[in-house]
Amino acid sequence: MSYRSIAIDGPAGAGKSTLARKLAEKLGFLYVDTGAIYRTVALAVLRAGTDPSDQAGVAPLLEELDMKMAYGADGVQRMYLAGEDVSEAIREHRVSGAASKVSAIPEVRAFLLDFQRKLAGEHDVVMDGRDIGTVVLPQADVKIFLTAAPEARARRRLLELEQRGQEAGFDAVLRDIRERDWQDEHRPIAPLKRADGAALLDTTQLNLEQSLEGLLSLVKEKIAL
Ligand code: C5P
Repeated sequence: MSYRSIAIDGPAGAGKSTLARKLAEKLGFLYVDTGAIYRTVALAVLRAGTDPSDQAGVAPLLEELDMKMAYGADGVQRMYLAGEDVSEAIREHRVSGAASKVSAIPEVRAFLLDFQRKLAGEHDVVMDGRDIGTVVLPQADVKIFLTAAPEARARRRLLELEQRGQEAGFDAVLRDIRERDWQDEHRPIAPLKRADGAALLDTTQLNLEQSLEGLLSLVKEKIAL
């Protein structure tokens, strides 16, 4: 039996995770948040006291990496490092920057590629990230590039941080988003870009419900549900 896959890529804060999770729920597919996987590697690197940009320092850490991914009874993806649930810890601000840095290291990307492809070979998936339609699953049934203006993404990120009780200023969040965009778009390996054949969904002017509707109609054009 062959499984169906939906690849959703786009920059930080475009609403990918929330929308991809809701879409997966609606379709009964497995939702795979690949950013969480990169974040978990980044957390392990930070905990080892290694500079996340140091290729020679990071690569050997992968061999000992005890990382696991599992789904809770609520269907939510959880990440584990050496048995410890780090699903909350990987959302910290310092981990975002570190994830963007480790994700530019070729050994890290190669290490995670098989992991991600295997999941798609065993389940119907909605997978979100930066290179799913371009590198991980170029044959995905549906490919979507989800984006929004940086200011709109910064406003959403700010709200999210406030809801988690973390304080930040709009300018700092916007700067952060632009910096991560730049790093993700300019790395030599698997840079963030719209995949061939990917439909574009710009959510700048859309709320969550409208974005989900847009996403669903793009999916329905490609696969019979
Ligand atoms: O999506 P999220 O913000 O959680 O991703 C964290 C970082 O992981 C991104 O900034 C990006 O550098 C990296 N990433 C990646 N490829 C993916 C998913 C995430 O390079 N497929």
